[in-house]
Amino acid sequence: MSRVNHHIVIVGGGVIGSAIASFTLRDPAFRGAVTVVERDPTYARASSALSASSIRQQFSTAINVEIGRFGIEFLRRAGEHLATAGERPDIGLVEPGYLFLARAAGAGVLERNHALQRSLGVDVALLDPPALRERCPWLATGDIAKASLGLSGEGWFDGWTLLQAFRRHARSLGARYVAAEAAGFDVNAGRVAAVRLADGSRIAGDTFVDAAGPWAANVARWLGVDLPVRARRRCVFVFSCRTPIPRCPLVVDTSGAWFRPEGDGQFLCGIAPDESNDPDDAPLDVDHALFDEVLWPALAARVPAFEAIRQTRSWAGYYEYNTFDRNGIVGAHPEWANLVFANGFSGHGIQESPAVGRGVAELVVHGGYRTLDLSPLAFDRVARNEPVEELNVV
Ligand SMILES: Cc1cc2nc3c(=O)[nH]c(=O)nc-3n(C[C@H](O)[C@H](O)[C@H](O)COP(=O)(O)OP(=O)(O)OC[C@H]3O[C@@H](n4cnc5c(N)ncnc54)[C@H](O)[C@@H]3O)c2cc1C
Repeated sequence: MSRVNHHIVIVGGGVIGSAIASFTLRDPAFRGAVTVVERDPTYARASSALSASSIRQQFSTAINVEIGRFGIEFLRRAGEHLATAGERPDIGLVEPGYLFLARAAGAGVLERNHALQRSLGVDVALLDPPALRERCPWLATGDIAKASLGLSGEGWFDGWTLLQAFRRHARSLGARYVAAEAAGFDVNAGRVAAVRLADGSRIAGDTFVDAAGPWAANVARWLGVDLPVRARRRCVFVFSCRTPIPRCPLVVDTSGAWFRPEGDGQFLCGIAPDESNDPDDAPLDVDHALFDEVLWPALAARVPAFEAIRQTRSWAGYYEYNTFDRNGIVGAHPEWANLVFANGFSGHGIQESPAVGRGVAELVVHGGYRTLDLSPLAFDRVARNEPVEELNVV
């Protein structure tokens, strides 16, 4: 279906909103217009600007593995896919892999995930402790029963450059970015008719997209829709370590702590706070006690060289945390057919932006998915209480 004069209005111009704009406008069947309402063009609090920008294939659900596969293919050629007349972005993708560690109690889950990942063609290897020690001699492995290492297709990149590249690409194809706060929807005969801005003006459209990241539930609430996505603070700490840690992947420890290299002798690390200390909308101040009392002890127990490190920098951002099943919610609302959601990615949204951008573009331009079927992530699973639970949330 070609949509002549169809107007798509996207609330939120982070990596998800901008990827949707870019994929929609590059579709030759699309003849309409795209407007992106983004209140903060500096993205000071946007998740896309505060991310650890890593990509993996090691998920527990098939849909996330498939999304990850498209993600890495796209990112490997981002310079080509997102080239504009003036620029060919370099997102600096590297692929040292993810290493998931498991004790005896967690080994079964690791093996089940491995079987699923292999069945979908993921380049991942299970390591027993001797193989792990040989690959990573700097790790303390006494309590480890199994590990899973991504051999290709996993690593990290510059998320800010990816966000800007999607935005620039979308604008080069005609997307209009409006720097304004969206404050409500106007509705007419069971459909969304316009986005109301804080200054009282309106942007009328045909299809509307909620790409408001951690604030997506506020947008849904304008229609009385309860979207189970909450802003949950996650802190990232940078430290330096003088001892070389050769061939270091992104390591996900049994404690939940993760770390990865970031340039010469520098590392990023983080850990989710305890559930009892993880409120919605916490201020974006860094929780330094989390590093001192939880994270550093866990890191030093896993990598003895990390007993002597210097923490140099830190920041906090929000996960758009899906409290229902920790997975994206993508697609139209069952009752508001011209409102599409692209939310709740729970810490893996930047790597999922290419597949989500393409999928939502297919929905709005063609009325259905044409490549990867994202319907397992549809909103109605929430109402049916059928979670697509993602176990590998880092
Ligand atoms: C510390 C941290 C580490 C992470 N690490 C990774 C990782 O390694 N890999 C990975 O894949 N993902 C990671 N993520 C998650 C990833 O960053 C997010 O899933 C992704 O950036 C979400 O993009 P978004 O566009 O939906 O949200 P955002 O980037 O937050 O964009 C939403 C935009 O909507 C705008 N907005 C909201 N409400 C309104 C309104 N009413 N009017 C106008 N504009 C509005 C906001 O200003 C914002 O710019 C991490 C996140 C954090 C916080």
